[in-house]
Amino acid sequence: MHYEGTIIRPPSEAGSILLQITVGCSRNSCTFCGTYAGERFRIKSDSVIMEDIAFAATHCRRQRRVFLCDGDALIVPQVRLLRILEALRSQLPWVTRVGAYANAKSLQRKRLDELKELRRLGLGIVYLGLETGDDETLRRIHKGADSSAMIAMGRKAREAGFKLSITVLLGIAGRDRSQLHARETGRVLTAIDPDYVGALSLMLIPGTPLYEDWRAGVFPLITPAEMLAELRTMLAETNLSQGLFHANHASNYLPIKARLPKDKAVTLGLIDRALAGEVALKPEFMRAL
Ligand code: SF4
Repeated sequence: MHYEGTIIRPPSEAGSILLQITVGCSRNSCTFCGTYAGERFRIKSDSVIMEDIAFAATHCRRQRRVFLCDGDALIVPQVRLLRILEALRSQLPWVTRVGAYANAKSLQRKRLDELKELRRLGLGIVYLGLETGDDETLRRIHKGADSSAMIAMGRKAREAGFKLSITVLLGIAGRDRSQLHARETGRVLTAIDPDYVGALSLMLIPGTPLYEDWRAGVFPLITPAEMLAELRTMLAETNLSQGLFHANHASNYLPIKARLPKDKAVTLGLIDRALAGEVALKPEFMRAL
């Protein structure tokens, strides 16, 4: 496979065939993200992508899922994405699901009927980084979309028939807006009603604008207890018809796996016990991105 630059994928795609169709991220301006620092976004050539699909057809016959890397593969023009999905379907017929990262911009640029066409050809799940539902924080972190755009695009993805997984970021609003960030994020998650929510805890990456703000004393990194209190409010304010709310990423202090709505009360009780010091938190040295 022809891999270039940094390759990332969601934890749930660990066993997937990683097919890199873009390098970097077309947005590349979120203040907390150091994944593609200095990397110029580009779409890989059709010939290289087709070579990789042919390689996977021979060497990846046991893997049933494909993940289209990198940052926001959905930004690839529709005709090219259709060609890729058709090739996957004909050459890797054992694959049951294709996934990709999306963002508000890439979802905005595709019409609903185009998204449905991608769904029909096998794109089964999209991963959307919401980070927060708080408009002021979205503006500060340069996410490129406000909460109404996030709600509209999340609903559009659902209407197209995709499974939708949304990532939110504990600690991203700093101290003063911490609880507001939690409540607003719960509001937006409820409005979108995704299948999966993954809550990560902010870790500052040297070289990013947010890291520099922290060093300059402009942005405070909240404590583990404050992150837990944020998680508690966020979970309490999130009402999903049927979905998984996870905070079991390596960056989190307290692993949470809740199926909503049924596990909500028990999980809030667990967080309360952790806040009261009755449940041990993950030590700092064991956290990772
Ligand atoms: S859209 Fe995602 S990958 Fe791109 S800069 Fe923002 S956080 Fe990083």
